[in-house]
Amino acid sequence: ATPTSIMVGTGKGAENGILIRGGEHLERVHKLNTLVLDKTGTITKGKPELTDIISLYEYQGQENTLLTMAAGAEKGSEHPLARAVINAALERNLAIKEPEIFQAVPGHGVEAHIEGQKVLLGTKKLMLEHGVNVNKITSDIERLESQGKTVVILSIDEQPAGLLAIADTVKEESQAAIAALQAMGLEVWMITGDNQRTAHTIGQQVGISNILAEVLPEEKASEIKKLQSQGRIVGMVGDGINDAPALVVADVGFAIGTGTDVAMEAADITLMRGDLWGLVNSIKLSRATIINIK
Ligand code: ADP
Ligand code: MG
Repeated sequence: ATPTSIMVGTGKGAENGILIRGGEHLERVHKLNTLVLDKTGTITKGKPELTDIISLYEYQGQENTLLTMAAGAEKGSEHPLARAVINAALERNLAIKEPEIFQAVPGHGVEAHIEGQKVLLGTKKLMLEHGVNVNKITSDIERLESQGKTVVILSIDEQPAGLLAIADTVKEESQAAIAALQAMGLEVWMITGDNQRTAHTIGQQVGISNILAEVLPEEKASEIKKLQSQGRIVGMVGDGINDAPALVVADVGFAIGTGTDVAMEAADITLMRGDLWGLVNSIKLSRATIINIK
């Protein structure tokens, strides 16, 4: 009886946009008690847009200059934040500068040389590592972060020059789907490389208070292992290349079908619907299937 019900369950899943790689995954979904959701692209739309430019010190009033520099520094980056910066420069018809040197610093930002100047764009940590003093701008940063925006700092020749705030809106369905998961008895967590304050604001918007923020790309998988070592059975949901190792380590890895191929290859289950209702439906399907077996 078991294999038949599993086959029926897997078929029902496929009809509803839930692609399950093997029957054993459907059985394991039933045992999950913890779900870890990636923030960008899973809870949020993953289409960040530049919302604020704050010019500082000798760059005051020169927002467009800052944007041409920032966009130049981001030219070689594939990060979603880079796209937001470049799109904003293009919308203003600015000529994006060509960097002489470019280096991505994963989880932190980018470093470039543009017209002989050293340009850094990224987190506070990136600035501190290069000796850029950000003490006087922390209140601006905190204000924007508490609006749920990601703030990247721009420095030119090791002086703070500007702040770029980037917002990524929560998907319409996220809050209701997360509430449904919690009502089904699952503990829901958020994981992100983004800063604590931004992550908590987004968490409040969708009803998640368990937050793992400022997690470096290579640390996502070990955070999952940590939760497992506490005796939890963990499902991980993600869309990005960054998420792939965590999807593999999790008891069940779920990829969002609108995300990257790398995430789908790493996952046990792909949710073809781009939102979190697919996750709710997977759990319902698994529970219904297991009840049939018993
Ligand atoms: P996420 O989980 O949001 O994809 P990442 O680990 O990729 O996080 O990045 C963490 C943080 O590092 C970002 O929130 C941002 O502040 C900074 N960062 C990473 N890449 C870039 C970039 N290309 N430009 C600017 N900032 C970046
Ligand atoms: Mg993501």
